[in-house]
Amino acid sequence: MYHQVDETPARGTPMRGLVVSPAAFARQMATLRAVGLKGLSMRDLLPYLTQKKSGPVVGITFDDGYENNLRCALPVLRRFGFSATCYAVADRVGQINDWDKALGVPQVPLMTAEQMQAWIDAGQEIGSHTLTHCDLTTLDLAGQRREVAASREKLNRLVRQPGGVRNFCYPYGALNQQSVVCVQESGYETATTTVRGRVSVADRMHLLTLPRILVSRTTTCAHLLLKCLTAYEDRRRVDLAWRSAE
Ligand SMILES: [Zn+2]
Repeated sequence: MYHQVDETPARGTPMRGLVVSPAAFARQMATLRAVGLKGLSMRDLLPYLTQKKSGPVVGITFDDGYENNLRCALPVLRRFGFSATCYAVADRVGQINDWDKALGVPQVPLMTAEQMQAWIDAGQEIGSHTLTHCDLTTLDLAGQRREVAASREKLNRLVRQPGGVRNFCYPYGALNQQSVVCVQESGYETATTTVRGRVSVADRMHLLTLPRILVSRTTTCAHLLLKCLTAYEDRRRVDLAWRSAE
């Protein structure tokens, strides 16, 4: 789980930890490659999640749809032959991350429809991150349904992608059982949370509440390997209390 890839903001900048430098990102991708792991978008990862394929793979996701993903991460992904999923906020395409404004997070550009198309045309994937980057748990069922379903429809109108928009990510990792129902009804194939951990065999039954591993500004390559190759993250996992009822 990445967010922004760009030069490090000044010390004291809120959420600075979610900006990984292009040099660090390149080192991380090289490290994955060096241990034989292939980075894949959620679309390309799906056959592995459903056990139709097996092999040393890791999913790569970017939340929010920042323009810096196209500018700074794409050249690196291409160099390594990796794919990744970028989750776009459908009503903020070509705008800025205004949902973070109250926290003092720098307002930076989000990809335009043309830039998302360039991302797709370079072999990458666009997924949905709702219409407005809302906390779904604050909405009633109709509100959640709109954010989840209408964002997919809108992104499908904005970009041309083989198979359309198929994968979803819950903003703030906030979800309840209704959110999962909405994601299922809308026809998404996978949805990612901020639950820490690697996807286990049991998670393959729960493709709409997948765990992830956060990579931040301070994640070293050694740390990344620890997170990807050992039970380091799994031990820190705190599951959604209601998930067994899915
Ligand atoms: Zn987000």
